[in-house]
Amino acid sequence: MADTTAEFEALLMQRSLSDPQLLAAAETASDFRILPDATVLKIGGQSVIDRGRAAVYPLVDEIVAARAQHKMLIGTGAGTRARHLYSIAARLNLPAGVLSQLGASVANQNAVMLGTLLAKHGISAVDGAGLSAVPLYLEEVNAVVFSGMPPYGLWMRPAAEGVIPPYRTDAGCFLVAEQFGCKAMIFVKDEAGLYTDNPKASKNAVLIPRITVDEMKAKGLHDSVLEFPMLDLLRSARHVREVQVINGLVPGNLTRALNGEHVGTIITAR
Ligand code: ADP
Ligand code: MG
Repeated sequence: MADTTAEFEALLMQRSLSDPQLLAAAETASDFRILPDATVLKIGGQSVIDRGRAAVYPLVDEIVAARAQHKMLIGTGAGTRARHLYSIAARLNLPAGVLSQLGASVANQNAVMLGTLLAKHGISAVDGAGLSAVPLYLEEVNAVVFSGMPPYGLWMRPAAEGVIPPYRTDAGCFLVAEQFGCKAMIFVKDEAGLYTDNPKASKNAVLIPRITVDEMKAKGLHDSVLEFPMLDLLRSARHVREVQVINGLVPGNLTRALNGEHVGTIITAR
């Protein structure tokens, strides 16, 4: 372990940047959270926004009321229109990096719509949530809307199989929460949480109130309510060590989850 800056610098000059001793030395600085008081919400694309007014208006009202007490970074999903684009582009043999850009354009559309509905309350949609004016918006109006797709674009790391971009809006919103060291991450979807099976396909599915990433994988549920690469991001996270998946179609759930209540499924890193 390097005790001094000089020793760390020597390691940086001499070793590979993935050298274990160098990595350990890079960890000695104390932890820093950029936006520790904010909560990141992901408003589902397929599960919420695609349902239109009936689902979106009540959530807009909840967001407006909640910002009296909470600072919120509100990310949007993509949903059915992105799936349509993926199906066309995949049959045209276009690569994951192109599909990633197509998906991003749909998440952008949803951010434009949500931002427009929140505009009269002073809440704006921003292009690219990677800081810039985000802290100012949070300070002034306690909320900001962003497009949930991570901006990998053409540089999207392809999946082992197929051309569907593996890191989509669940991962994009989670990474914002984790990199900013936010207080909490809430996924707002259309089911009470994680079930033993897809509740839309199985009548016997049972809700699981709390589960770890490893348990989810062991039960074969890794590819279900969240994008599966999200689970590994959560497992190795430093700040955001749990996320909650809630049913945003039930009035009051979002507010309760923002207050720290357990209203859906809590998925923990360990
Ligand atoms: P988003 O709109 O945020 O992209 P998705 O539609 O991708 O959300 O994911 C939520 C959906 O996942 C639910 O509507 C549900 O149909 C489906 N799903 C599949 N397996 C499960 C499961 N085991 N538990 C809960 N939901 C599941
Ligand atoms: Mg999804």
